[in-house]
Amino acid sequence: MNADLERVITLQRLDSAVDAAKKKLADEPERERTLDARLDAAKQHVADAKARLTENQGARRDIEKELALHQGRLSKFREQAMSVKTNQEYHAIQHEIAHAQGEIKTHEDRMLERMLEADELTAAFKKSEAELSAEQKAIDADRKAMKAEHTELQAAIEKMTGERAVIVSALPPDVLSRFEQVARKRNGVAVAEAKDGICTICHVRLRPQVFNTVRRNEEILQCDSCQRILYFVPAPAATQATT
Ligand SMILES: [Zn+2]
Repeated sequence: MNADLERVITLQRLDSAVDAAKKKLADEPERERTLDARLDAAKQHVADAKARLTENQGARRDIEKELALHQGRLSKFREQAMSVKTNQEYHAIQHEIAHAQGEIKTHEDRMLERMLEADELTAAFKKSEAELSAEQKAIDADRKAMKAEHTELQAAIEKMTGERAVIVSALPPDVLSRFEQVARKRNGVAVAEAKDGICTICHVRLRPQVFNTVRRNEEILQCDSCQRILYFVPAPAATQATT
């Protein structure tokens, strides 16, 4: 293969790899934000579960107060019942006693419901705390991996930039300027494989004369349509055809 064509192919490989590495680095803040959001969501679950539990505890205290109030009334009415003078008074106090007993029953039922609810809420709170702790560990691991990847990407970019400089210094200036001109116009991709008579990037059919020349990989030839520098990958173990 023509040495300059080989250099141009390597240059493209390096440029594409550097580009991909830079894109990954540029994605890091977004990935950080995603991790932050995951942690915030897990913390919010814990806070919500805690708030529901606190609400339940407050409700239970309120019911206890109400219950004490009705129990106090009940004892008072029972005492009064001992000293009633008239039948009318007796009925009135019995009515109050029945009412207080009804209230006590209602509040005891409500308390039981709230206690059952407290068991569920306590379990949910503990579960949310365990989930937060697991999420925290997973996120720490992700951050650590990201940090390691960041270092690797930067090292790779530095290494490839060095390799690029060596290749650039070996390339004839006119070839380099053709490469860079096309790269600028074609989104950083200045080289294309020619296969089955077409340019594999723009998919335009090459003139047979051009394709035959490209197959030999001995010249810097550009696609008539997209201007990319063309190269040919021979089929493995196939003899070079001379059509
Ligand atoms: Zn093309």
